[in-house]
Amino acid sequence: MTQKEKDTLKIKIEEDILLTQEQIKDLEEKVKPIAPDCSLGRLTRLEAMGEQDVNNKILDESRIKLTRLKNALLRIDKSMFGICIECEEEIGFGRMSIRPESVRCVECAGNL
Ligand SMILES: [Zn+2]
Repeated sequence: MTQKEKDTLKIKIEEDILLTQEQIKDLEEKVKPIAPDCSLGRLTRLEAMGEQDVNNKILDESRIKLTRLKNALLRIDKSMFGICIECEEEIGFGRMSIRPESVRCVECAGNL
């Protein structure tokens, strides 16, 4: 990977971190316990709880993603960045620009 590609990815990772942090903040609001006496509008209490389950799942995934993005940012200036941890081949700029937190190439990720 060239330095220019790494610079591009660095900006992308920083943007992704900000977006993910926003998303987490947003979700944390949504998964707050539902007060028994609060008026839920057109949603019934049961539906609201179902929605919370979904949001909790997304929240977990977002937190994992945030950790991975931060790790990617720490790795980006090192020679192992962009190298698959399984086969040690280059992951490739195409995949890294879509998912900069990737640590495996397409083939190895597919074999999981
Ligand atoms: Zn691989």
